[in-house]
Amino acid sequence: MAEAFTNFLAGSPLNRLSWLRTSHSFLNAVVVSPATRWILFNGGQPLIATHTGTQKRSLALLTTEDVRPLLGAEPFFGQGEQEGQHCASDSSFLEAARVRGPSIVFLGLKETENSGNALPSSEFKDPHSAVAKLTGTPYFSADVADLDESKVNEAIENTELAKDGSTLTFVEPRAAMSSLDAYTAAIFAEARSMVDWNQRNKFCPACGSPVYSLWAGWKLSCTSLLPWADNTDRKPCPSGRGLHNFTHPRTDPVVIMLVIDESGEKVLLGRNKKFPGQFYSALAGFIEPGESFEDAVKREMWEEAGVKVWNVRYHSGQPWPYPANLMVGYYATADSSAPIRIDLDNELEDARWYTREEILAVLRHSSGTHFSRRDYKKIAEIQDGPDNNPASAKSEQSVEVNNNDEPPFRIPAPTAIAGVLIQHWAEKYQFQKWMRTGL
Ligand SMILES: [Zn+2]
Repeated sequence: MAEAFTNFLAGSPLNRLSWLRTSHSFLNAVVVSPATRWILFNGGQPLIATHTGTQKRSLALLTTEDVRPLLGAEPFFGQGEQEGQHCASDSSFLEAARVRGPSIVFLGLKETENSGNALPSSEFKDPHSAVAKLTGTPYFSADVADLDESKVNEAIENTELAKDGSTLTFVEPRAAMSSLDAYTAAIFAEARSMVDWNQRNKFCPACGSPVYSLWAGWKLSCTSLLPWADNTDRKPCPSGRGLHNFTHPRTDPVVIMLVIDESGEKVLLGRNKKFPGQFYSALAGFIEPGESFEDAVKREMWEEAGVKVWNVRYHSGQPWPYPANLMVGYYATADSSAPIRIDLDNELEDARWYTREEILAVLRHSSGTHFSRRDYKKIAEIQDGPDNNPASAKSEQSVEVNNNDEPPFRIPAPTAIAGVLIQHWAEKYQFQKWMRTGL
């Protein structure tokens, strides 16, 4: 079976070693490895390095020595009641726990070519032998949002990258994506969603107590469950018993669909009221409880455009870290002679059918898929959600657009799945094959 298309932000090169997230001895050993690299975030913005001379930008990958002043007291994982203490028991409530200090997430290991893939085999089950066996680059992320700003600035100024002359700044993430290659983009996507989840969940949903981090940033738990918690005169927190999925990171699935007419020569695009410029894209919406992906495609098209669709077929998926969506891309068929209605749920300003020639003309236009910094700012200002997905990150170089040569409208770049769906259809990229067999 052929592979589905791998979108930008997907296809992570990391082995997440998820079975080792519970082991503080493993994590504490990996943190101090000279090979380890860190991605810093501040308020959801990644730290970006602008290299002297070339002015080329990339994700700033820092060493543990660089970030050490920001991480708080050791141990980094498996912390005890007092600062500097290791946890005394092997309680499951203390597995790789951090009860103080900034949020840290273990993202995974970029293995070397010849190391093979570490699997949850006997060789890698035991934390000590796992550390000895590991080769490659372990990745962590840290969030400095709650730290003192001068302390953060000082640490950044003292990093190896800064000393080498690079300028390090926290950058609006959608704009920053244009600086990322496919490899770092996928690591960034994982890191940003995880940092955001840890930053925005501060209290136990079951009882309202503060939460703390465990499993290397992959789980949050209620502080009333810590062995040293004083629970005098209070009921036990319900999250201490049974299954509580709300303590694990969430991913919110969003269907995004390009609707094609029966001739195969026209597609339906919409313009959301919040979109900047003359920007049109595939329609999208969150999946609701009790729906299949296909149900959601049909419902959203009906609610947003008054269009009945059929022949709903999967194309590919894209993680979209604003904050933690999974875009699930589809093609579907509709009758282009039927009326379009945008007054039903009032999300769209306009929706219309475009011919292949019209779309190709925009794709060939030098600014047909470009966004300006102002556009990114506008998108960042509105609420995070699927409507933002089309705002991809083709280029910052295109900030100055010649107003005399504007495209008739703009569409997303292929860094967003909407752009891929449109471009694959317009250019018939693997499209005939896909229509026959599915990719
Ligand atoms: Zn609780």
